[in-house]
Amino acid sequence: LVELRGIHKAFGDNVVLAGVDLSVARGEVIVIAGPSGSGKSTMLRCVNGLETADRGEITFDGRPVKPGKGLASLRAEIGFVFQQFHLWPHMSVLDNIALAPVKVKGVARDAARQRAEELLTRVGIAEKAHQFPAELSGGQQQRVAIARALAMDPKLMLFDEPTSALDPEMIREVLDVMRDLAREGMTMLVVTHEMGFAREVCDRLVFIDGGLIVEEGPPAEFFANAQSERAREFVDKII
Ligand code: ATP
Ligand code: MG
Repeated sequence: LVELRGIHKAFGDNVVLAGVDLSVARGEVIVIAGPSGSGKSTMLRCVNGLETADRGEITFDGRPVKPGKGLASLRAEIGFVFQQFHLWPHMSVLDNIALAPVKVKGVARDAARQRAEELLTRVGIAEKAHQFPAELSGGQQQRVAIARALAMDPKLMLFDEPTSALDPEMIREVLDVMRDLAREGMTMLVVTHEMGFAREVCDRLVFIDGGLIVEEGPPAEFFANAQSERAREFVDKII
């Protein structure tokens, strides 16, 4: 579904991605781990065209990800969930979810609102439909953000540290929603420090350091015997 080939990205003198190659199969769940500043967010942002690589190619569903016409429609097929939830504060939960399908896809308003209610049920907060984001806990807001992304029927979901801004007791409820999504076959790229989630849910763990994929493989293998010294250090620190 996604191919990254030889992705380079620098901000001024700061080389952030130094030749990243990655193939993501349909239905695959990949956790991306690595030290702070290693280029994880930049890599995700390149995948949906929020950043443009200096060199290399990315394709999504057979189409190039590059600036120009076509990028907006391509991006509409990729859901992105951030650390900060980025909900519209002046809109109800339901309207937050129903907005993009109406505005971007031309879905009828009633149909979009009905779908939004279904999605809220799916993420376990049907009763919050008519409240405003500020009235919800962080974990509930993040579940709204996930429902909002799903409302566009994405083929791919990107998550950039979706639980890092949450209090510990709310992390579980968000990870549970993500785990269900993975089980339903969604293709997911997840940047997270939640190694329990990685171990339990992902098909492949990609360890990135210094702008390069240093190591990748099934999570059990990664935790049991990471090959590179950097990955082993990372495992020792985090577990
Ligand atoms: P963290 O775990 O802290 O989120 P990360 O692996 O996601 O880190 P990135 O956010 O991709 O790392 O950043 C990698 C490097 O690129 C950092 O040195 C960061 O300062 C730099 N960087 C990222 N975005 C920009 C930008 N828009 N302009 C300039 N520098 C940037
Ligand atoms: Mg980041």
